[in-house]
Amino acid sequence: MATNKKAAVPKKAAGKQAPQKVAAKQAPKKAAEKQAPQKVAAKQAPKKAAAKQAPQKIAAKQAPKKAAAVSNESMLEKLFLDSLRDIYWAEKSLIKVLPRLSKAATSPELQQSFQEHAAQTEGQVTRLEQVFEMLGKKAQGVKCEAMVGLTKEAESMISETKRGTETRDVALIMAAQKVEHYEIATYGSLATLAAQMGNSEAKNLLGQTLQEEKNTDMRLTQLAESNINQQAEQEGNEGEQGQEGSGDDEKNLSKEGEVEEG
Ligand code: FE
Ligand code: FE
Ligand code: FE
Repeated sequence: MATNKKAAVPKKAAGKQAPQKVAAKQAPKKAAEKQAPQKVAAKQAPKKAAAKQAPQKIAAKQAPKKAAAVSNESMLEKLFLDSLRDIYWAEKSLIKVLPRLSKAATSPELQQSFQEHAAQTEGQVTRLEQVFEMLGKKAQGVKCEAMVGLTKEAESMISETKRGTETRDVALIMAAQKVEHYEIATYGSLATLAAQMGNSEAKNLLGQTLQEEKNTDMRLTQLAESNINQQAEQEGNEGEQGQEGSGDDEKNLSKEGEVEEG
């Protein structure tokens, strides 16, 4: 089409063409200038559309699978509920594990700290049950593989240290702080999510537990720094072989700490 026009034009008056050519040359420039922002807009538009479509696509893929069991539950709500079930299982497990850490501990202060946190943990379980109730869901635990792993690690740290030593306590504090940090990460995320979803009551409950976990972590640090670490350093090599502890009640924390699902 364009070539035909160009071919036809030169045959007509050359003098008239000049201004037309100029106009013709300018016109496309103006048009180009005007188009430029349009092109940009056109390029951006699909990106925005794609970004908006992405979650819709996922939702569309999942929707048919969930449709039978769950209605009106967003992906974020499901993630929140799954995380709630995970930490619920973990807390119920800890109610059984913490007293055993207390029995394995050497210093009365650390024993007491574990006992107190075990009692506190029962309150944390109750809070989680309140959150489940708010959501209209049955309080149900789903095995937390992280807590199983952390408990196994605590178990091996106990078996590698000698009963009645401060080095045992250093190991227990280390293992327990790993647990507390896992809980801090979980409750921090859950409290933030609850706020995001507009559930301020749940946010407050989860926030209370978050603070308890932080306090427990700080208490363990205080115990370690106040004297336990120092005393352990003075123990030297005496407690190097810790197999004596393996015959008592400290074995198989993870087995005994496991909680039935549901
Ligand atoms: Fe806890
Ligand atoms: Fe977990
Ligand atoms: Fe805790």
